[in-house]
Amino acid sequence: MGLFSGRKTHFVDSDVLVIGGGMAGCGATYEARHWGRDLKIVCVEKANIERSGAVAQGLYAINCYMGMQWDENQPEDHVRYARNDLMGLVREDLGYDIARHVDSSVHKFEEWGLPMMKDPETGRYLREGKWQIMIHGESYKPIVAEAARKAATEVYNRIMVTHLLMDKGKEGRVAGAVGFNVRTGDFYVFRAKAVIVAAGGASHIYKPRAVGEGMGRTWYAPWSSASAYALPIEVGAKMTQMENRIVLTRFKDGYGPVGAYFLHLKTYTENAYGDEYESTWYENTKELVGDYIDRHPVPTCLRNHAFLEEMKAGRGPIRMVTKEAFQDPHKETVGWENFLGMTIGQAVVWASQDIDPKHTNPELTTSEPYVMGSHATCSGAWASGPEDYAPDEYQWGYNRMMTVDGLFGAGDTIGGTAHKFSSGSYTEGRIAAKAAVNYINDMGKDAPQVSEAEYENLKKEVFKPLENYEVGRNEIVGGTVSPSYLLPMHGLQRLEKIMDEYVGGISAHYMTNEPLLTRGLHLLGTLKEDLDHLGAEDLHQLQRAWELQHRVLASESVAQHTLFRKETRWPGYYYRGDHMKLDDNDWHCFTLSQYHKETGEWELEKAPVYHIVD
Ligand SMILES: Cc1cc2nc3c(=O)[nH]c(=O)nc-3n(C[C@H](O)[C@H](O)[C@H](O)COP(=O)(O)OP(=O)(O)OC[C@H]3O[C@@H](n4cnc5c(N)ncnc54)[C@H](O)[C@@H]3O)c2cc1C
Repeated sequence: MGLFSGRKTHFVDSDVLVIGGGMAGCGATYEARHWGRDLKIVCVEKANIERSGAVAQGLYAINCYMGMQWDENQPEDHVRYARNDLMGLVREDLGYDIARHVDSSVHKFEEWGLPMMKDPETGRYLREGKWQIMIHGESYKPIVAEAARKAATEVYNRIMVTHLLMDKGKEGRVAGAVGFNVRTGDFYVFRAKAVIVAAGGASHIYKPRAVGEGMGRTWYAPWSSASAYALPIEVGAKMTQMENRIVLTRFKDGYGPVGAYFLHLKTYTENAYGDEYESTWYENTKELVGDYIDRHPVPTCLRNHAFLEEMKAGRGPIRMVTKEAFQDPHKETVGWENFLGMTIGQAVVWASQDIDPKHTNPELTTSEPYVMGSHATCSGAWASGPEDYAPDEYQWGYNRMMTVDGLFGAGDTIGGTAHKFSSGSYTEGRIAAKAAVNYINDMGKDAPQVSEAEYENLKKEVFKPLENYEVGRNEIVGGTVSPSYLLPMHGLQRLEKIMDEYVGGISAHYMTNEPLLTRGLHLLGTLKEDLDHLGAEDLHQLQRAWELQHRVLASESVAQHTLFRKETRWPGYYYRGDHMKLDDNDWHCFTLSQYHKETGEWELEKAPVYHIVD
């Protein structure tokens, strides 16, 4: 009997359980109600869906909109675009599926009250770029959340999901999830017929550029804690492209976005001496990746590569030339509004650093790597594709179902489909929910059963850090370092250092190789051993402890994939020093992994890339 065995346990039954109420989770919750009028649809969220997830602060543009009603783009065009940006490797079936449905999601957002900017002459949505449309999006998330709230049977806010539950009757089938309320400390057992994981991406697995006073400032949301990956990995779901971490070129210190600046304000970059530098690195890049450098638009990672090489050549900092554009009062307003609508911190940083972009060209930098499946990279779970479009090899069940029966995913969770962004993630949530309802309808009376022993064991495990702390702190007379427990912050910093130095982070200029990765994996193994001794002083720290657990498992997956792919597919995102060139002969493929929890072993394999769109 542990010190905390007296905690209250709540049981929640549902047909569809949605984990994470961000963009994809809200889309899933909304759509599940459309197809499952009489079903019990439950959404569980560790924050509050009103302002949770990567869109919490708002956005200034919806980055994935075809504009099919005006014949602006077709879904095939978007597949070609994403494939080009990802150096040939995307799940074209999944990408096409999102692109053909995404416009309808955006039209719903407008119907629900999201203010869209319109072109005064044509009346169409105002384009920022070929795929982006501009919005007054401070309230984007509350608007989307309202529709989900109305559709759900129940939304459980402030519950951090820590583990999935498996069916005790049928091997390899999901049966629900457990978690704890971060405010009351109560334990929750969610029993479900189908589970949709929509728990966002992963920040803070690599040491961030902003440390010390700036810690917590990251580009991807600091609360994106890799649950989207760890939850499925732990129950044996196959993952794909976990090596495809993203590095962003952003305004220095505030991670402010550059998209609107490049696309709408037509600003451009230059080195410290006022020279254009990308063309300097053309031959060098061609050596590494061949013709991919001649593609249009130039893949994002290759533009990063030129940036990094120019910095290493000693001609930094690289700056965004804003002084010209900001002389136009309209553009100046747009430049500031862009931050006020989604990254207020950048405006504050500039104010604190005496930067007025009208008079000073601000510095850019490259971020630490993040893991995600919805922005410009495609790490995540390996999912079954749409029945009418996916090749046979990509179909083993229902659309967006992972390799675990009854377990679905959307948004950052699902791999192989970059460039879905907020609208595409929402749309993928809708797609996954429709399939999950079909799955439930086909299930009949054969519903999954949870095992009491399983959730009781998990209950002990979940609250153990509180007990570790309670017992271990007796050994301390002052300070925070204990001989018998590890605080979540200490564990996080250790993780970030390992990933930074061994798995291609900022301090290694994103460089790694087999010996470094092997050593990194060893150190991650020792960190994992120590996680049994995490100590949490309160419920907030208990949440941090479980976020760390999830981050560590996802990091291990990233390191394993990076070791497996023996090429440098995306220079500018990371480099394998022992395999510096892109190798289309051996590696024009997806990488897949499966984690075996009982042994701690990882199994890796290749999967073919099918080019469906010409
Ligand atoms: C800085 C930044 C700028 C961006 N700019 C744009 C842009 O301009 N235009 C655009 O269209 N898109 C943009 N995006 C992308 C967009 O925000 C993402 O594609 C989208 O939010 C992904 O949706 P998601 O549901 O997968 O993740 P999220 O929206 O992040 O939702 C994940 C949810 O899961 C919850 N959660 C996590 N773990 C748990 C757990 N263990 N238990 C319970 N709940 C959990 C989180 O609290 C969160 O609510 C931007 C993203 C960032 C970070």
